[in-house]
Amino acid sequence: MTAVAELNRRLAGAGPETILAATLEAFPDAALACSLGLEDVALVHLASQLPRPPRIFVLDTGRLFPESYDVLDQLRRRYRLPVEVYCPDGPALEAWVDAHGPNGFRDSLELRQACCRIRKVEPLARALAGAAAWICGLRSAQGPTRSGLQLFEPDAGRVKVSPLLHWSLAQVTAFVAEHRIPHNPLHHQGFPSIGCAPCTRAVAAGEDERAGRWWWERPDHKECGLHRTPRPGDQP
Ligand code: SF4
Repeated sequence: MTAVAELNRRLAGAGPETILAATLEAFPDAALACSLGLEDVALVHLASQLPRPPRIFVLDTGRLFPESYDVLDQLRRRYRLPVEVYCPDGPALEAWVDAHGPNGFRDSLELRQACCRIRKVEPLARALAGAAAWICGLRSAQGPTRSGLQLFEPDAGRVKVSPLLHWSLAQVTAFVAEHRIPHNPLHHQGFPSIGCAPCTRAVAAGEDERAGRWWWERPDHKECGLHRTPRPGDQP
């Protein structure tokens, strides 16, 4: 049995605290990717309770909601943990905006994925350089692109860990409220999932949690490249 399979077997049914602790035991250099969304502020809170918290980093795409930047400030003040911020490569971003305009990501799936590569995927690769594992706030209930995930997943040469995988949105919401964790007020205005401002809208009652992300695309395209399962013909 591989190490990942053994972790999935051993931690099936465990709570997020146990999964986080086991992750840092197995991968001491694991880093926590904080999107500033509800799940990730819950993870920052849980990480802050550990004797040796993981590295925490944020990908600042340059197009986040003003409220998301407020959450970053509030997390720094509340937890007094270092939060690394990774920004897009300047020349690559300038070239893309020169060629396609600031909102060119609406023109095609390829341009949207290219924008996500520059603003998210490449900075993520820098943030994770040398790390054997990363921790993120994916939940299986978030939609069709996430329903088949496991707690520990092999991911491009490292391991991706989702301690909240089996929590519902209601559980995350209750946990954040119980511990008075700083979070984005947009979560109370119909935004269960929050990414870049121009690519996120509120969802209607009954819609998937991620229906407001890239709402003009097909549901099976609703990933930015950080978590998307590659399909034949996709660009790297
Ligand atoms: Fe660009 Fe939208 Fe992706 Fe943000 S979510 S990186 S603005 S395409």
